[in-house]
Amino acid sequence: MKINDIHRIANIGAGTMGHAIALQFAMKGYQVNLYDHSIEGLQRGIELIKHDLQTFIDAQVVTTPAEEILKRIHATTDLTVALKDVQFVIESIVENADIKKQVWQEVERAVADDTVLATNTSGLSPTELQGVLNHPERFVVAHFWNPAQLMPLVEVVPGKQTSEQTVNLTVELMNKIGKHAVPLKKEALGFVGNRIQLAVLREAFHIVNEGVASPEAVDDIIKYSLGRRWNLVGPIASADLGGLDVFKNISSYLYADLANDTGTDPVLAKKVDEGQLGLKTGKGFFTWTGNQGQKIVKNRDEQLLAQLKDDQKSK
Ligand code: NAD
Repeated sequence: MKINDIHRIANIGAGTMGHAIALQFAMKGYQVNLYDHSIEGLQRGIELIKHDLQTFIDAQVVTTPAEEILKRIHATTDLTVALKDVQFVIESIVENADIKKQVWQEVERAVADDTVLATNTSGLSPTELQGVLNHPERFVVAHFWNPAQLMPLVEVVPGKQTSEQTVNLTVELMNKIGKHAVPLKKEALGFVGNRIQLAVLREAFHIVNEGVASPEAVDDIIKYSLGRRWNLVGPIASADLGGLDVFKNISSYLYADLANDTGTDPVLAKKVDEGQLGLKTGKGFFTWTGNQGQKIVKNRDEQLLAQLKDDQKSK
């Protein structure tokens, strides 16, 4: 399979992630067979697609008329119909290894031997998932970040049996639909983004628990320092710029003092036991009342959209 052979995509799962990925392909001219096993899920997905597309049109990120883009999306609850004549399959269904394996086996029976198969799992092992396939070499992880219509990154993660050609083609395709694809050399639990996110979170919760700083203070410290800098220069290049001798010295006394819990995070476990799940229960580390949370998400998405426009201008 070559990039120019890909014209039609099967998008399995039309939820939070799936609808946004389908839209991304359709906006770049691909025919998209949008499948969900539930009619409600499919209808909700189409409504979300229309909503996100309108946001892009209002922001002039997209200039093609909405009807033209929507005509490229073919919604169905019939998996066989969804898989007809497709060259690439992206799956965003429930995060359950057994269910994913079952769906991938069904997919493989219906598609050509060289159709590329990509899962948007958050962290399941591609080696384990591809173990059920007859042609595991064309199976790979394409891990999008939520909100997938606004976040550029896609981590492309090979399993042990994934071919280099599959990784390269997936990276090329993701870049072609406007994402920033980054291939990993091999799989690791949590891939890279979530490993780093969880390492930071473990230390942030530890700092709060030890009474060093409040949750507000921790978030401010990150937002106004590392958050600003890492958007422009990643942590490894930042270390190079700062001087590796400086970071070596800091690591020599600080590593030993950092949180190193290896089980479930004790701070998170306590919150969850108390029913404090964050925005959805009105209380987590912060208290959420009225539409405070929705306002923060709206503001975040507006800023992400502005950055996306900047990215487009600089291409
Ligand atoms: P979601 O619940 O919003 O959507 C899942 C959709 O898949 C639903 O519409 C559901 O009806 C459908 N579905 C479930 N089982 C199915 C099946 N057997 N066949 C067909 N359709 C089925 O979930 P989501 O947040 O979009 O997550 C989907 C996948 O993406 C998961 O693997 C998740 O780990 C991963 N992911 C999620 C995020 C995130 O932040 N939400 C980020 C990256 C990756």
